Amino acid sequence: MNQFRLSRRPDIGDRIGVSFEFFPPKSDEMEERLWETVKRLEPLAPRFVSVTYGAGGSTRERTARTVKRILAETSLTPAAHMTCVDASRGEVDGVVGEFAEMGVRRFVALRGDPAEGVGAAYRPHTDGYANGAELVAAMRKKGDFDISVSAYPEKHPESPDFATDIDMLKRKVDNGATRAITQFFFDNDVYERYVERVRRAGLYIPIVPGVLPVHNFTQVANFCSRCGAHVPAWLAERFDGLERDPQTHALVASAVAAEQVLDLVERGVSDFHFYTMNRADLVFAICHMIGIRAQAAASEAAAA
Ligand code: FAD
Repeated sequence: MNQFRLSRRPDIGDRIGVSFEFFPPKSDEMEERLWETVKRLEPLAPRFVSVTYGAGGSTRERTARTVKRILAETSLTPAAHMTCVDASRGEVDGVVGEFAEMGVRRFVALRGDPAEGVGAAYRPHTDGYANGAELVAAMRKKGDFDISVSAYPEKHPESPDFATDIDMLKRKVDNGATRAITQFFFDNDVYERYVERVRRAGLYIPIVPGVLPVHNFTQVANFCSRCGAHVPAWLAERFDGLERDPQTHALVASAVAAEQVLDLVERGVSDFHFYTMNRADLVFAICHMIGIRAQAAASEAAAA
């Protein structure tokens, strides 16, 4: 691997675009942390920042409030996530309309998981959109939006095989999706093989890798087992014994994520979506390592 040569190349940051994902805060304390994070990351001039939408629309108000505040108080371009869970078509269309009235032009369109949690059988609302593809079609009818959708390098756990999985992606693209953002993964060969399959299926939208800095390895490993992402043995080994050593854990996590991102750059990837978990430190460090520097105007605004 040539990370060290790459990381010294001064123009590398100019070729790379990033986006950051946040979740809507549940408490005042979490809200404060989110805004510190947003302000810290804003000067990095991401292409957009996205705000997730909770199961059963449980975070509908909080997602809307967060998106509104991003529009009002920052220079960032927000993308609102939307799911189909437990909502009629009319309700979903209504929420999309409210976001559009606020000035939102970007969405991340998802089917979502059942309110009981990942792994429970998904049952669409009797009058609802059945999957991400139907939601994309409905959004496309309402406006000329930029619509991101999900993609699964290790296939979605409900997909019986890759062909079924990529067929769903094709339906989303046919209905007007602009780009796909992947579920996080740790093995870049898996991502590369997936992109090859997608291209072989005649799909040419960007497949933006979703990168998850490992803030807490135990939590990430638990989540992986539920969402079908694989934890390679080498990753477990790197975090082994660091459960009670947060400082070393953070250093290792930023090295692991930077190594992954630099290797993807080497393979020709130029856009990255970071699952920030509403924390700035690791994402900021990784962006710095790939040559992304704070833009002066936004830095001054953030400091004011
Ligand atoms: P779809 O794209 O509709 O389907 C996913 C896969 O399931 C398909 O590939 C298909 O093969 C299979 N499938 C679907 N329907 C069927 C069927 N009837 N029969 C057989 N196979 C089927 N969740 C949230 O709740 N809120 C969020 O904000 C959120 N943001 C996300 C952002 C990203 C980038 C990603 C990757 C995921 C996100 N999720 C979010 C998680 C997502 O909701 C779950 O992974 C969910 O299980 C699938 O939603 P989807 O839009 O990917 O589904």
